[in-house]
Amino acid sequence: MSTPPATPQSIVIVGGGFSGLMTAVNVMRLARRTVRLTIINGQRPTGRGVAYSTRRAEHLLNVAARNMSAFPDIPDHFVNWLRTRTEYDTLPEHELRERFIPRLVYGDYLRSLMHHYLSAAEFVDGEAVDVDERGVILSNGRVIEADRVVLASGNEAPAPLPGAEALTDHPGWLGNPWLDWLGRLPASDGSIVLLGTGLTTVDSLITLRSLGWYGRVHAISRHGWLPQSHFRGIEYPDFPPEGVDLAELGLERLVKLVEGHCNRLRDMGANPGIIVDKMRAHTQRIWQKLTLEERLSFAKHHAAKWNIIRHRIAPEIHAQITTMQLTGQLQVHAANIEKVSAADQRVEVQLCGGKTITGDLVINATGPQTRFTATSSGLLQNLLRRGSVSPDDMDMGVRITPGHTIVDGEGKPSPSLLAIGPLLRGTYWETIAVPELRGQARRVAETLLGETTEPTIEQKVMMEYMI
Ligand SMILES: Cc1cc2nc3c(=O)[nH]c(=O)nc-3n(C[C@H](O)[C@H](O)[C@H](O)COP(=O)(O)OP(=O)(O)OC[C@H]3O[C@@H](n4cnc5c(N)ncnc54)[C@H](O)[C@@H]3O)c2cc1C
Repeated sequence: MSTPPATPQSIVIVGGGFSGLMTAVNVMRLARRTVRLTIINGQRPTGRGVAYSTRRAEHLLNVAARNMSAFPDIPDHFVNWLRTRTEYDTLPEHELRERFIPRLVYGDYLRSLMHHYLSAAEFVDGEAVDVDERGVILSNGRVIEADRVVLASGNEAPAPLPGAEALTDHPGWLGNPWLDWLGRLPASDGSIVLLGTGLTTVDSLITLRSLGWYGRVHAISRHGWLPQSHFRGIEYPDFPPEGVDLAELGLERLVKLVEGHCNRLRDMGANPGIIVDKMRAHTQRIWQKLTLEERLSFAKHHAAKWNIIRHRIAPEIHAQITTMQLTGQLQVHAANIEKVSAADQRVEVQLCGGKTITGDLVINATGPQTRFTATSSGLLQNLLRRGSVSPDDMDMGVRITPGHTIVDGEGKPSPSLLAIGPLLRGTYWETIAVPELRGQARRVAETLLGETTEPTIEQKVMMEYMI
C-alpha cells in the first residue's frame, strides 16, 4: 500500500472470528472520530469463528463462564449477558460463574456484540487473497481500499499427513475436522479413527455419544494423552515463591521449580494442575524472556504435557470420555502416524512400528498446522512472497512489534499491517483462548487509533442488556 496516513480513515480486518470481531468492537468503543471499518470473513458466520459456529449444544466451552468476558476491562460482562437468557436467568451466581456454557451460546453472545457495536461497519463475505498498494484483494478480484489491515485469520487447518493427497475424494477420509462429517457416519457396527487426542477429538467423541452412535472409535496421537478435566483447586500461596520472578529463571531452573511444586501438591493429595494455572498470568512474559534454544526445547520436550494440563475440559465432558474408554468403545493409541492410504471403501492408518488401524471414517484432528511458512492460506503465502510479513524466529507465526504491528521481510515495522490471535503463537505461546485474545483485541484497537482511552463502560453495558 502507498504511505498510509498517520491516523487511519479506513480499517480492514481479515477474519471475523473472536479476534477480528473484538478488534472491530474495540475500535468502535474507543474511536473518538469516524473510522470506516470493514470485516472480511469467509466460510462461517462472522463473529462465531471456528470454535463458536458449532450448532451442537453438547459442545461446551472449556473455560468457565466467569472467565469468558469478551472485554478485559469488564470481567463480568459474559456472566451478566447470560442473565438475559431464560435458561440462566435464575441460576445462583456462584453456579452460573462456574458453568461451562454451550459454545453456540457463546457464539450468540459474540453476535449480540456485533449487532450492538458494528452497525456502521461493512461486512464482506469472501476470501482475502492478497494485500497490495491498492488495499485488500478478494478472490473474486474486488479490491477494498484500506489505510490499515489487521490479519485475524485464526487457526490453520491441520497439516496434511503423508498419503492424504491421494485421499481427497475418498468417502472415508476427512482432512479438515471442521467440515460437516455427520452425513458420513458409518453404520453402528463400523469404526471411526480420530487422528489426534486433543480438543477436536473430544468434540467428535461427544457428538458421537449424543447421536447415540456406539460403534468402535480409535484415537491416535504421539503420546496418547487426552485433555485433563477441570477441578476445584486449593489455596496454594507457595507458588510462585515470594521474591522469585518466574520470567528470570531460564527454562532449566523453571522446570525444576515447577516439578518440585507439582510433587509437593501430589504429596498433599492435590492436583498439580494448580501450578500451570498459577503460571498463566506470567506465561507470555516467561516465553518472551526464554532464549530461542530454550523455547525450542520447551516445544520439543514439555509442550505436549503442558497442553493437556493447560487446555482442560469441563468435568461433565471428561466423564463421558472416560465412560467411552471404560466401556471399550474408545481405544486410545500412543503412536506416530506414518501414512494414510485407501483400503477400498475404508481408510488405513499405518503407524510407525508396523501396526495398522483401519476405519470406515478417518478424521484428521491432529490440530492446527504450526509451521507458518508452510501455511495453506493463499493470503499469507502471498504476503510472505511480497516480504510484507516475516516469520517469527520459531516459524510459528508472524513477527510483530509490542503494539502488534507486523515486521516485514526487511525487519521494518509495516506502515499498515497488524496481526492478532493464533498467528502470534511464536511471540506469546499463549494466544489462542479468549482470556488472552480479549486483551490483544483492545491493544490492537489502541495501536490502530493511536490512542489509549477509557470507554464509558456502564452506559454501553446497560444498553447491551436490552438487546
Ligand atoms: C473446538 C474449539 C473449542 C474452543 N473452545 C474455547 C473455549 O472454550 N474458550 C476459549 O477461550 N477458547 C476456546 N477455543 C479457542 C478459540 O480458537 C478462540 O477462543 C477464538 O475463537 C479464536 O478466534 P480467532 O478469531 O483468532 O480465530 P478463528 O475462530 O479461527 O476465526 C478466524 C476467521 O477468519 C476467517 N479467515 C481466515 N482467513 C481468511 C481470509 N483469507 N479471508 C477471509 N476470512 C478468513 C476464517 O474463516 C474464520 O472465520 C476453542 C477452539 C476450538 C477449535
